[in-house]
Amino acid sequence: ANKDVTLHILKRFGIRMSKKLGQNFLIDERVVQNIVKAADITQGDAVLEIGPGIGTLTQGLAEAGAAVTAVEIDRRLIEVLAKTLEGYENIRVVHGDILRINIEKEVAAPRYKVVANLPYYITTPIIMGLLEAHMPVDTLVTMVQKEVAQRMVAVPGTKDYGSLSVAVQYYTQPEIMFVVPPAAFIPPPAVDSAVIRCTVREKPPVEVDERIFFRVVKAAFAQRRKTLSNTLKTTGVPAETLKIILEKAGIDGGRRGETLSLEEFAAIANVWIQ
Ligand code: SAM
Repeated sequence: ANKDVTLHILKRFGIRMSKKLGQNFLIDERVVQNIVKAADITQGDAVLEIGPGIGTLTQGLAEAGAAVTAVEIDRRLIEVLAKTLEGYENIRVVHGDILRINIEKEVAAPRYKVVANLPYYITTPIIMGLLEAHMPVDTLVTMVQKEVAQRMVAVPGTKDYGSLSVAVQYYTQPEIMFVVPPAAFIPPPAVDSAVIRCTVREKPPVEVDERIFFRVVKAAFAQRRKTLSNTLKTTGVPAETLKIILEKAGIDGGRRGETLSLEEFAAIANVWIQ
């Protein structure tokens, strides 16, 4: 990956990068190699790459021994990828929208890793979608806005801790691998990015009814300034019942959602009445 080669390829194919599709391409080979390293590829690992662009990271993954399925939405890039990935036998490019395609059908492996450098506005829905659907994913290595990475790994009692932290940590063990400056991309994005590795847990850290658990979590963070006894009312449970629930769970209703650990949210979810 480097800037001149990338610009040359885009020029040759007459492609102007699309802002709408979040096209910021990596031009720093060290970053590419560090992402490959973060994915900890062993020979034959199945990898789903989302948004390969012109195939920079795709090549790195394939050279590390991965069998890559790369899903790209932009038809113009499909043509580019046919050229830049020519000669690689362990890469399959799929033209489609990751939010619409049948992933199970496209990735014909019992378990796989996900590697993605995606437009930032769809990264979180995609990560959460894969986790909530309990897809057979071992690890997700993704480029996200630095600030989003910090929210994913945040611990209770900090300003970054919120429903995203709880959700990501319920399904995975997230770890910020490294920070990536805007200069690693063309065009450079406005913010710092970070590569986060989420190792999917074999089993969640708490035993809950997921539907109830996440309803409680969402309500608890809906109004950050309010106490639990207030903000949990948005679930429609009457104040009197809430009082009983919180008492049974052993949680002080005067606390705010942002101070609760996963275990404490689970304690509430497990005595929930609705
Ligand atoms: N991976 C390349 C790199 O690192 O240079 C490209 C990264 S660029 C930030 C994001 C890529 O995702 C673009 O190629 C864009 O066309 C593609 N993309 C955007 N939305 C997509 C979607 N819904 N499904 C699949 N690919 C998508």
